[in-house]
Amino acid sequence: MTGAPAAIHTRIEEEVGRLAEQLTELSLDLHAHPELAMQEEHAAKRLTGLLRDDFEVEEGVGGLPTAFRATAGAGSPVVAFLCEYDALPGIGHGCGHNLIAAGGAGAALALRRAAPQLPGAVSCIGTPGEEGAGGKVLLLDAGVFDGVDAALMFHPSDTTMPIRHATATCPFTVEFHGVAAHAAASAHEGRSALAAVIQFFVGVDALRQFVPETSRMHGVITHGGEAANVVPAYTRAEFMVRALTGDVVGDLADRVEAVAEAAARATGTTVTITRGIAYAERKNNHVIAGLVADHLRRQGVPVEQPVLRGGTGSSDIGNVSLVLPTIHPYLQVMDRGTPTHSEAMADAVAAPRAHEAMLRMATALACAGADLLADPELLATARAEFATRGPDLPQ
Ligand SMILES: [Zn+2]
Ligand SMILES: [Zn+2]
Repeated sequence: MTGAPAAIHTRIEEEVGRLAEQLTELSLDLHAHPELAMQEEHAAKRLTGLLRDDFEVEEGVGGLPTAFRATAGAGSPVVAFLCEYDALPGIGHGCGHNLIAAGGAGAALALRRAAPQLPGAVSCIGTPGEEGAGGKVLLLDAGVFDGVDAALMFHPSDTTMPIRHATATCPFTVEFHGVAAHAAASAHEGRSALAAVIQFFVGVDALRQFVPETSRMHGVITHGGEAANVVPAYTRAEFMVRALTGDVVGDLADRVEAVAEAAARATGTTVTITRGIAYAERKNNHVIAGLVADHLRRQGVPVEQPVLRGGTGSSDIGNVSLVLPTIHPYLQVMDRGTPTHSEAMADAVAAPRAHEAMLRMATALACAGADLLADPELLATARAEFATRGPDLPQ
């Protein structure tokens, strides 16, 4: 495979070098102003502000106020770089989305500035609410990804890996409605929503032996009652099921819902179950991931073999990956073994080391994008692989 001329790769590297200070400042600013899913007003404003001189910017695409699409060029093919920028409750950027945002926007800018003569269009899509709110799923449904030939993004990690599997998941909210009463004087008149939610969690534990080993069922009780001397009339749990594929997740979700209904029946309460947005398993495009790996190695970044083993998280990039050729490589920005969704990761993703790595990844993503725009045969190979390969599943 040939890709873009080496001179374009060199120019991209130079453009990333020119952008380095701005991208680092942007990433640190997002890090210092963490915003929860779908509330990322500051981040969306900063990112669109950075892109506006070179791209035509549409804000609030897909009906999501903090989503955006920035486009330069016209026609086909369209290579899109995706940004995530939501933070986590309590620990800020403990998933490092400040790096994804600045790196994705940097890749789009560098590619456009280095090679405006390439056919087709470069796009940067701002995808809010990755942490549970399913921003990409909503944007897919709204047609924001229509016409995109390849979607490229990366995620900070403790290892650099071009490919990784991810589990499918479905979140839901379970609410029990009982009858309040004095917990001593007239307990017999009450119906305890707390007993119901406890029964629900115990009932799910009884399922564990009888589900596929790779499945996960986990949740928290967010409302457990108001006072020790009042039979709780209302309780609420947030729950998630995960499995290798969306089909298995669907089965598990049905079984967990049956447990909730049984818990309600057993305790004389009623239950309301609200399903959230399901995240799909991931189908990496190995052709495009291979390009990124080559461009990382060229810059001296060690790239490790994919490890398709063990537990993983879930992301709405999975839904995109089942619709069009997509990559979501991981980039080492911190010491091996640093847990994700942690304060340690939140510290690591603000360090100079993380930003140096982010700039190399921005270069690699932009170079891979240039390869796809410049070489129709390469894009055809990526498309052919998309048509024939299934999702990446652990061995
Ligand atoms: Zn996360
Ligand atoms: Zn993340």
